[in-house]
Amino acid sequence: MLFEIKLKAAIPNANKPVKILKVHHQLGAVVQEGDALFDAEGEKGIVAIKAVASGVIQGLSVEEGAAVTADTILATIDGKQQVWSQPSAPSDFNYFGNLVKAVKQELECDIAIIGGGPGGYVAAIKAAQMGAKVVLIEKDALGGTCLNRGCIPTKSFVRSAQILNTVKHSGAFGVLTEGAAVDMKRVVKQKNTVVSQLTAGIQHLLARNGVTVVDGIGMFQDEHTIMVKRKNGETKVTAKNFIIATGSKPARIPISGIDLDQVITSDQALQLEKLPRSMVIIGGGVIGMEFAFIFANFGVEISVIEALEQCLVTCDDDICAENVRHAASKGIHIFTGAKVNEIIKTETGECLVSFTQNQTSKYIPAELVLLSVGRKPYTEDLGLEELGLQLNERGQGIAVNDKMQTNIPHIYAIGDVTNKLQLAHVASHQGLVAARNILGEPCTMDYSVIPGAIFTDPEIATVGMCEKSAKQAGIDIAVGKFPFIANGKALTYGEAGGFVKLIADKTTGKIIGGSIIGLHATDLIAEIALAVQNGLTIEQLSGTIHAHPTTAEVMPEAALAALGRAIHLA
Ligand code: NAD
Repeated sequence: MLFEIKLKAAIPNANKPVKILKVHHQLGAVVQEGDALFDAEGEKGIVAIKAVASGVIQGLSVEEGAAVTADTILATIDGKQQVWSQPSAPSDFNYFGNLVKAVKQELECDIAIIGGGPGGYVAAIKAAQMGAKVVLIEKDALGGTCLNRGCIPTKSFVRSAQILNTVKHSGAFGVLTEGAAVDMKRVVKQKNTVVSQLTAGIQHLLARNGVTVVDGIGMFQDEHTIMVKRKNGETKVTAKNFIIATGSKPARIPISGIDLDQVITSDQALQLEKLPRSMVIIGGGVIGMEFAFIFANFGVEISVIEALEQCLVTCDDDICAENVRHAASKGIHIFTGAKVNEIIKTETGECLVSFTQNQTSKYIPAELVLLSVGRKPYTEDLGLEELGLQLNERGQGIAVNDKMQTNIPHIYAIGDVTNKLQLAHVASHQGLVAARNILGEPCTMDYSVIPGAIFTDPEIATVGMCEKSAKQAGIDIAVGKFPFIANGKALTYGEAGGFVKLIADKTTGKIIGGSIIGLHATDLIAEIALAVQNGLTIEQLSGTIHAHPTTAEVMPEAALAALGRAIHLA
């Protein structure tokens, strides 16, 4: 719906032209109901002219300095009006356009969501599409960890590192370049551009779906009320149902030296505008290994210290071995079965990481230490204890059933805070499940076919059962493996390392899982996910024509290999 913004709304009896002092937003900007759009200089001082609806500015007919009268249409907004929201004070500004301290607002809705990450914002959009009045509370930037400090920014770094690598090795492809170098300031800037574009997109989607976003820190006051502390006041949100989607934060370990300035988490690693000469990464899980390859490709000397006997421990052994081989080729030193004792600051301002491996004390000097030992569900300062909300065993995350419902039936929890699987796509799916259950469409969350994508170099992807878990479950399996070295497209890319591995139930022929390490692995995994989800057989996959020349051709070949009949494998 189109809403017209006129001066009349702010200065009803303006009978003389009034000067527009400031235009706050550009054409196409997403605005929330109540946002200041213009500052106008009236007879009694400066007045803010506000958006009467949330949406996109579709028309903008005045410029700064223009003289307008009461009926001039200043702008048009394509969006929705939250007629149900009833602020107890009319605005954050007084008549003279000055911010009023501590404005109290009250909102009533069907569903209030705390946290605007991939869990919370997807749940908000789904619920709004299903007709609910939704309030989304976010204390930081929309998009959460995934968009601002996780999946997307790391992929921007991965891409910069890939480009550097490609340029460095371009001679082999007949392209002569000289002096390839990294400018971290620009790497970070490029990452920020991508992040801004995506967060603006989310803002737009929320506005178009009529979701009210409240910027501030939300805390439960009782089972039906959240108080949000905003920069300029408080908003009391009362709702019939709630979804907690507060995410997680980097975990820490209690060792001496952990609070040194040189010890950073992935959050700070994504802001580094200057590359360190060397970096020790504590924790060889997904975050640790992704950063190990990113920074090694940027030319940083990397050492990984992992407590378990293997990095990326949930992957099959052959996948890990292939990953280690590639890590070694990039000069990444990996120490497994190693316990970090302490981090010491040296006289030259660097660090010395002390650890024990095979009962021997060892030391690695480094300019920076990256801590990647897992992420902790964010459950503090939400008033959960007072509500009596149950946490998981050992207090790690909020306990939920398969409908994403907590022990308090109208309060749901989704995403990292539930500590099920800390993946953005799991959070989003949990969000859909929660929204549907709240709005009368019963459904449950199924974790059996969740693809995983690890952006090492080459990439790793998994879905369903791996060889290890299928054997542990006692399933009689057929394994079909096919290497990228026998794939034409991978060879033309000069990236023919790795393989695909399909796991099928021997009795039924049904594909029950798969792992890929190699070029385009994280995209190719979708085909195996589709096969597992729909109970497709090895025969059905091998009988499907795949385009030539593509990396996807490894799929039917792996299926044929499971039957002992691969064409391009001797
Ligand atoms: P993780 O649990 O995947 O790995 C942490 C690793 O640190 C483990 O291997 C653990 O054994 C090791 N470790 C713990 N304490 C240690 C110590 N004191 N010394 C040495 N090693 C120690 O956690 P993460 O890598 O921090 O990632 C956090 C979450 O985010 C995970 O659930 C991960 O799946 C998710 N994530 C996923 C992706 C992706 O899918 N691409 C990317 C980033 C993060």
